[in-house]
Amino acid sequence: MPERLSGGCACGAVRYECDAAPMFMWVCHCRECQRASGGGGAVNVVFRKVDVRFTQGEPTYSPRIGTSGQRTWRGFCVECGSPLAARADLIPDIQGLSAASFDDPGQFRLVAHIWTDSAQPWDTLAPEVPRIAGTPTPADLAHLLALAHGSAPAQ
Ligand SMILES: [Zn+2]
Ligand SMILES: [Zn+2]
Repeated sequence: MPERLSGGCACGAVRYECDAAPMFMWVCHCRECQRASGGGGAVNVVFRKVDVRFTQGEPTYSPRIGTSGQRTWRGFCVECGSPLAARADLIPDIQGLSAASFDDPGQFRLVAHIWTDSAQPWDTLAPEVPRIAGTPTPADLAHLLALAHGSAPAQ
């Protein structure tokens, strides 16, 4: 993991830096993530919100009511439309960043596929990666954190 994680949108209007390693990376296959990403799901690298700083510009956030009844927020660049960020009022302390927006997206390891109940039949899910049918529970989150940081046995 490099000392500083950085990235931004396609046109460069929005740039960010992260001050700490991510919690984990997952792919969310819910229909909202499919619509927002234009593909089989959104690949999100999840950080503690305090560890993410926007150094140039800011994503524009669009709120939607999620399955929990609370708002989820998707951040994109208003200039070029790149999806950049995701937040959920349900878990307000974390900030997702689109994996492809990092300057080096290849450095992260996928820890879970979530919302697999709505994964598309033509989508390819990594067979060795844990799957969660819908929204991760607090226990799921704790397990994924442990998996990502090497202190739990694989399921
Ligand atoms: Zn842009
Ligand atoms: Zn989703």
